[in-house]
Amino acid sequence: MSEDTFLAWLRQRLPSSGADVLVGSGPDDCAVIDFAQPTQLAISTDTIVEGTHFSGGDEPRLIGWKAMAAALSDLAASGCTPGWGLISAAVGRGRGEEWLKSLAEGMIACAEKYGLAIVGGDTVSAGLTCLTVTVMGKPFGASAILRSGAQVGDVVAVTGTLGGSISGRHLRVEPRFAEIEKIIALASPHACMDISDGLSLDLSRLTRESGCGARIFVDRIPVSDAARDLSAQTGRTPLSHALEDGEDFELLFTLPPDRWEFLNDKWNLETPLTEIGEIVSSGLTLVAADGAEKILVPGGYTHEF
Ligand SMILES: [Mg+2]
Repeated sequence: MSEDTFLAWLRQRLPSSGADVLVGSGPDDCAVIDFAQPTQLAISTDTIVEGTHFSGGDEPRLIGWKAMAAALSDLAASGCTPGWGLISAAVGRGRGEEWLKSLAEGMIACAEKYGLAIVGGDTVSAGLTCLTVTVMGKPFGASAILRSGAQVGDVVAVTGTLGGSISGRHLRVEPRFAEIEKIIALASPHACMDISDGLSLDLSRLTRESGCGARIFVDRIPVSDAARDLSAQTGRTPLSHALEDGEDFELLFTLPPDRWEFLNDKWNLETPLTEIGEIVSSGLTLVAADGAEKILVPGGYTHEF
């Protein structure tokens, strides 16, 4: 069973929540609870596991940083500012105090950098290390930004460069809070998510939630240097790494063309913004430089059970 199949089942199976849950477990980067109008609380949880998201030999401080940053990335993706966090840590037996403290220091450093208060958690010993971080936060704007808001005619844009994060960037994730705060202030995006499982797979999730399609222009995709370097080893094209590699943790967002022009004109942060395509009524396609269009088959990282 694939991850998406399981999650689709789970979304049907989970008991429905109270009227104050605007977005429950499933469709978005964060759950959103409306606890006192007009204030919303966005909630998300993220697990990283030894052997899947990091290797046992990685520096514990970087592992801790990644666990926290990956969770925080979902808050940024929902247009929310860090508020409160919970950590559940299963730590490999025999790791020792120094290793465990370095792990904690990595988490704390990331939480402090982005202003998250860690309000609780749990730690147990286990065969492998497995870290779960739950984060909560309030929207920068009036409400959380969802995957479901994309509209036909919107520009599709991304932050940063894509692909090849496995070369090292996946441990040094920087959640895009400064970027989304500015994007919201300048251009009120219609939809947003973070790219955690690969551009093409995550774009298909955004368009599915929005009930629309997208055309992506091949020559505009910001392919990272790491994707080009990795391509020489893997034999895959840099483009396929940019489209399908997981753990970029960049923002994928949509907004009307006039707002995009304004945003792009006013943008002064170091992280680049790139227009990569447009929202259409249906279908996912890749448009080559010569105008030839072909179906974009979503590919990326999915957990199999
Ligand atoms: Mg996400």
